[in-house]
Amino acid sequence: MIPFVRGFDFACGQVDQVSPLIRRVIAGNPGPFTFTGTGTYIVGGDQPGQGVAVIDPGPLDAAHLDALLRAVDRQSVSHVLVTHTHRDHAPLARPFATATGAPILAAKPPARTTHASAALDEDDDETFAPDVVLEGGEIIAGDGWSLEAMATPGHASNHLAFVLREENALFSGDHVMGWSTTIVAPPDGDMTAYMDSLDAVIARRFKTLWPTHGAPVTEPKPFLAAYRAHRVAREAQIVRRLGRGATTIAAMVPDLYAGVDSTLWPAASLSVWAHLITLERRGEVRAAPTPAIDAEWRLA
Ligand SMILES: [Zn+2]
Repeated sequence: MIPFVRGFDFACGQVDQVSPLIRRVIAGNPGPFTFTGTGTYIVGGDQPGQGVAVIDPGPLDAAHLDALLRAVDRQSVSHVLVTHTHRDHAPLARPFATATGAPILAAKPPARTTHASAALDEDDDETFAPDVVLEGGEIIAGDGWSLEAMATPGHASNHLAFVLREENALFSGDHVMGWSTTIVAPPDGDMTAYMDSLDAVIARRFKTLWPTHGAPVTEPKPFLAAYRAHRVAREAQIVRRLGRGATTIAAMVPDLYAGVDSTLWPAASLSVWAHLITLERRGEVRAAPTPAIDAEWRLA
């Protein structure tokens, strides 16, 4: 069982000082994929004149733009950082950057459409264009803080997390969330990359994870171990279903997700597909005619 953290004290639009160097403002876009809404982080001191970075400005929402501009009033914003190009993270970056004069730093947006299914409202902001393209490994130094860009593909091919070195903390975007597992939806989402990125985060032994949605994860070690084990168990369940003769995702999902509301099955289908693609790459499963979502799958 994953020790989810769902209890969460906040008011939309309010600036909360959540650590010595981190403030958070939550946007008014709650939903099945955003939990209580997008949390925008402001990194740096809170005094007038101090330089700050802002991570994931969020959805195109005038009230949230106002709240962010009020929060950094009389400060200077040196960097706008975006974890990935999904619409609940990226679209407000340009209006916020224009208002503050700060450049936008992010990984290169994916070339193809993110999701195969309209069941998800986590689609790409296709207009997003960073001013500075990051690849991971860069150090972004500011006024009393420094952030390291950490490539964490999987949920999205261009997903970056940001390490706040002064607090050994990770802004984990949608890669690791405290309230839920993350969606890995092909073709842009990739389970092989996701698991590698999870291992990379585990290896760094961060003290705190700050996801874009929901509360922080304050005990990352057991949380990440359970988060990882959940995926390994799901893969094993899929292999067992194939072993018993199931050949399609449509046949497997109602059984694998019997305890889950059927409105979430389209999203679950994408996750099963992501696992099957990984199994196919490893040579454990064959897909006919191609590894598409409606393929027939058999153990190799
Ligand atoms: Zn996302």
